[in-house]
Amino acid sequence: MIKWPYLPQDLGLEIVKSEGAYLYTKEGFKILDAAGGAIVNNIGYGREEVAEVIKASAIKNTYVLPPFLTPEREQLLDELREHWLPPHLTRIHLSSGGSEANESAVKMAIQYQASRGKSEKKIILTRSLSYHGTTLNMSGISGHAARKRGMESYLPSAKTIETPYPLRCPLGSFHPGAKDYYLDNLRKVIHNYGAENIAALLMEPVNGSSGGAIYPPEGYWVEAQKILIENDILLIADEVMTGFGRTGFKFSCEDYEIKPDIMIAGKGMASGYAAISGTYSTDKIANSIMDAGYLVMFHTFAALPLSCAAASSVLQILRREKLCEKVAPLGERLKQKLTDALDQHPLVAEIRGKGLLIGIEIVKDKEKLISFDEQEKITDQIVSKGLEEGVLLYPGGTGEYRDVVCLGPPYIIGDEEIDLMADTLGKVLNHIQVKYN
Ligand code: PLP
Repeated sequence: MIKWPYLPQDLGLEIVKSEGAYLYTKEGFKILDAAGGAIVNNIGYGREEVAEVIKASAIKNTYVLPPFLTPEREQLLDELREHWLPPHLTRIHLSSGGSEANESAVKMAIQYQASRGKSEKKIILTRSLSYHGTTLNMSGISGHAARKRGMESYLPSAKTIETPYPLRCPLGSFHPGAKDYYLDNLRKVIHNYGAENIAALLMEPVNGSSGGAIYPPEGYWVEAQKILIENDILLIADEVMTGFGRTGFKFSCEDYEIKPDIMIAGKGMASGYAAISGTYSTDKIANSIMDAGYLVMFHTFAALPLSCAAASSVLQILRREKLCEKVAPLGERLKQKLTDALDQHPLVAEIRGKGLLIGIEIVKDKEKLISFDEQEKITDQIVSKGLEEGVLLYPGGTGEYRDVVCLGPPYIIGDEEIDLMADTLGKVLNHIQVKYN
């Protein structure tokens, strides 16, 4: 009998305890969680303070219909508005995960356009490399081939712009014309579909699992948003992975100095202590939907009091311990260490990213940027070997585009963990190189 998971995987582990930045297997093996789970855990595992508020809330307010206010909800709304959200995003809709929150964002964009008499504006543009979730719609519109397999006949098709990808820009790696190339592509795609048919562009400010910490050329987003505004197209920022300090900013849109009309956050919002995510919009969008009399439906388990309590507690810890302020310097040290150790490595095409979301792209041919064959499952081999060495790495890539591993540890790591991540990656890549030489 197959006990767990639904489909067996190569990397079977039984974790019996997690504490700080470490996981412990049934056999007592200690693993550094350099992936923060799925780039979820920011404050470290096993905080009693968070567990206590979850317990208190479960006793006091076990379940309350999502639209009703509770003290736990009110505390979280205040925390978000006073300390985290960009001031123009005043309206908050809570869900349980990133996919649900993205669905809500798309629904809001479509409803907003309909509410102003523009129901023909119904295309949601996405990007060629992207991941926005696992529901049918998100699977369809994401640029992630591997996560669509077997469902292609059923899924809605993605209408995409090219993901700006400086390493692999068709003009040449890190070409000075890359920004204009990708902006032209945005303009062309808008022209092809017709601005009058497009509701919004949904994007990850920094690619997560699809591409591994890919940043666009400097200045791209400011200009891209101008193009969107000129064409009356909303900008939806999926900050499920990047939100709450992951890249050294509260949200990565701050880094680009852009103002999304709708923003989504998930993962780090409660650091994995509870299932909670948020869709944040402007008053303008929410009021327009409201005035049209449309419904923004809730999920039964949205904004559970215990999840709100957990998120408030996590966000307060992040502030009290100034953990977000530590992310940029920690990331610089980690990136420097990785660059010193691996930049010249024959399999390493690029070490990229900011803060504690660092991607390492692996290739067979560094000169020509040729990837290994998909059947070799290089990323899986790297993750598997990393685990043997006591470090959990986060796999990335879409199958069509591969192989990339990400580092996204909790913000509480120190030099010991930085050394361990860099040394382990070095060992693992040497192992792969010897095997394929
Ligand atoms: N959006 C991004 C950028 C993500 O990285 C993910 C998950 O990895 C999702 C959405 C989907 O979130 P969830 O798995 O919580 O539904």
